[in-house]
Amino acid sequence: MTADPVTAAACPECQAAVALAPDTLDGEIVPCGECLAELEVVTAVPPTLALAPDVEEDWGE
Ligand SMILES: [Zn+2]
Repeated sequence: MTADPVTAAACPECQAAVALAPDTLDGEIVPCGECLAELEVVTAVPPTLALAPDVEEDWGE
């Protein structure tokens, strides 16, 4: 079996390389390890990240 290397995409906020697991899916939210921004995986292939909408959903704790 071939192990896919972990891919990385540039954080749109700080340009740091954000590692993406091989099984990352479109639409996943991943945190940037550098600036801690929440990033949405726009497309897993090719790895493209965008800032997640800065909206906090109120689920009513
Ligand atoms: Zn970042």
